[in-house]
Amino acid sequence: MNIIEIKNLSRTYGDEVKTYALINASFSIQKGEFVAIMGPSGSGKSTLMHVLGLLDRATSGTYLFENRDVSTLNDNELAVLRNEEIGFVFQAFNLLPRTTVFKNVALPLIYARDKSEGNKRVRDILEKVNLSHRLGYLTNQISGGEKQRVAIARALINNPSVVFADEPTGNLDSKSGVQVIEILQKLNDEGHTIILVTHETETAECADRVINIVDGKIVSDKRVKSKKRVSANDLIK
Ligand code: ADP
Repeated sequence: MNIIEIKNLSRTYGDEVKTYALINASFSIQKGEFVAIMGPSGSGKSTLMHVLGLLDRATSGTYLFENRDVSTLNDNELAVLRNEEIGFVFQAFNLLPRTTVFKNVALPLIYARDKSEGNKRVRDILEKVNLSHRLGYLTNQISGGEKQRVAIARALINNPSVVFADEPTGNLDSKSGVQVIEILQKLNDEGHTIILVTHETETAECADRVINIVDGKIVSDKRVKSKKRVSANDLIK
């Protein structure tokens, strides 16, 4: 089943002077795929991620998310769909500082009815990203790699079908970066669709498929022949 299907999707910025950030992009992504989006700086990767992640709308073309034409949804409906179905991980972590790891992850549950169920879920997810020992730490007391794992936990709290990760290893040392990719691969094994924006070839090879974008145009879309499985344990020698 296609979770994402776009056809001739374009996004331009500005009125008088137009920037063509995304030009006639067409592809589909199946449920359960791990896709890397690659391209140089300014090529349109963030624009594509924002449109696919329902944070922004295309200027023209069609976008079906789980077979629903998103152009027919109003802003409120779009926000509900995004909160229920999509999780985001950013290069800069975007966590609340001076707030505990636990609270950062619990934040999207603010409207949840059953608090004790929610608290259990936060603990389970923090265990999944190997952070059970950091629940009560403030986010400015933990390492960059740990911060990114908190951000992944927060992205997972509503059990989204798709996780978008925008250069998630960009601010990390190589070992922490491998740990983040290892977690994304595990989440993918569990059935989450993963869309990873990166400019590193090595990171892209950890996906099933690599879509290359240059100057707003999709220039290639290829399956990875031998997907690289990573394990942070391999680095601890
Ligand atoms: P990437 O993520 O690959 O670095 P972007 O999607 O950020 O690329 O940018 C693609 C193009 O769109 C660039 O030329 C950039 O300057 C332009 N752009 C991005 N966001 C805006 C904006 N909000 N207003 C005007 N131009 C923008």
